[in-house]
Amino acid sequence: MNKRKLRVLVLGAGFGGLEISTILSERIGDRLDLTLIDKNDSFFFGFSKLDVMFGKRSVDSVKMYYHKIAKPGVRFRQETLVAIDPVKKQVTTNKGKYSANILVIALGADYDINATPGLWEGGNEFYSFEGAVQLGNILPTFEKGNIIVGVTGFPFKCPPAPSEAALLLHDYLLQKGIRDKCKISLVVPFELPIPPSFGTSKALLTAFKEKNIEYIPEIMVGAIEPGKKLAVLDDGTELPFDLFMGIPEHRVPIDVEESGLLFDEWIPVDKKNLKTKFAGIYALGDVANMGTPKAGNFAESAACIVAESIISEFHGFESMEEHNGLGTCFVEFGEGNVARVDVDFFLGSSSSGKHYEASKK
Ligand SMILES: Cc1cc2nc3c(=O)[nH]c(=O)nc-3n(C[C@H](O)[C@H](O)[C@H](O)COP(=O)(O)OP(=O)(O)OC[C@H]3O[C@@H](n4cnc5c(N)ncnc54)[C@H](O)[C@@H]3O)c2cc1C
Repeated sequence: MNKRKLRVLVLGAGFGGLEISTILSERIGDRLDLTLIDKNDSFFFGFSKLDVMFGKRSVDSVKMYYHKIAKPGVRFRQETLVAIDPVKKQVTTNKGKYSANILVIALGADYDINATPGLWEGGNEFYSFEGAVQLGNILPTFEKGNIIVGVTGFPFKCPPAPSEAALLLHDYLLQKGIRDKCKISLVVPFELPIPPSFGTSKALLTAFKEKNIEYIPEIMVGAIEPGKKLAVLDDGTELPFDLFMGIPEHRVPIDVEESGLLFDEWIPVDKKNLKTKFAGIYALGDVANMGTPKAGNFAESAACIVAESIISEFHGFESMEEHNGLGTCFVEFGEGNVARVDVDFFLGSSSSGKHYEASKK
């Protein structure tokens, strides 16, 4: 019987990295030798940033600590990756070097706050954990004025999140008794809030109207003028604000940029099997150009395909499973109501995503 071990390096213990480590551990068990590397000490769901920002949950309650990982064949290392050599399948961290037979890059997307002039000095963002915590401290002190929820770059993670933030902000201000003293504006690059679903978009536009949220479509915020408290849109329009809640520009983590894995802004992969052009190296989730939106459920489904491929090749055959671009998103409508939308992203630019009416969680 073949007793050799499957040596795997997984870079990034987010949605994709955790999913693939779990599947490989469950399926290969004691024949797995997997090192999972992440610079952080814990995982948290993207949407938990909204919970923290609106004071619904504490920082500690949303964190899942990696030191609790106890999976056969998996060892976690809290280290910061500084270089990837895709030819040697070797990576360098702040503490040492690692190599393996299989490399899975699941490093997510970083934020480039400085790409939007004035955002750092004069605005806020809620896409990083620190940014959401900071807004969670600012919001209780906010009394009245204009609040802009604004997208500054595309692509960005979880396309429904700006709409959700605006609706949850409405609830928050209402509960605080100051909704009538505040104006909420939402600036997004799309014509419809959820382009792949006409049904969900229609429901969101109705909710914005009912809740007096100004919807400013097909444009982004290009700059912030901190002194004047103005958000400058890409066409030069100036919107005054008292609080700016931004979605910052996204970029690949710096170590990926310097690795030679890029031709484009994100790691190119075969969208059916997530293989890069380097043998034995896969990239999945937000860091890759997978042909789907940057969202946790696609990182997870891609991880399942990669796991299947790795396991099959370990046993000497080729996996026939392909990533199908199907995804389900849950959309917060406020007041505890959540809608669901099912979308097929490999169908093309259709807006036929199936909408399920919002209902109590
Ligand atoms: C406000 C908000 C709400 C969201 N809501 C949803 C939702 O409801 N549903 C949904 O599906 N998605 C949602 N998302 C998106 C989701 O969080 C991401 O798409 C998902 O986390 C991507 O998974 P990933 O595995 O590709 O990357 P990530 O989960 O981001 O994991 C990447 C990991 O790599 C690590 N890393 C990066 N660089 C280094 C380095 N140099 N060294 C070591 N480690 C490194 C990071 O610490 C991180 O743990 C939301 C996102 C936001 C911001």
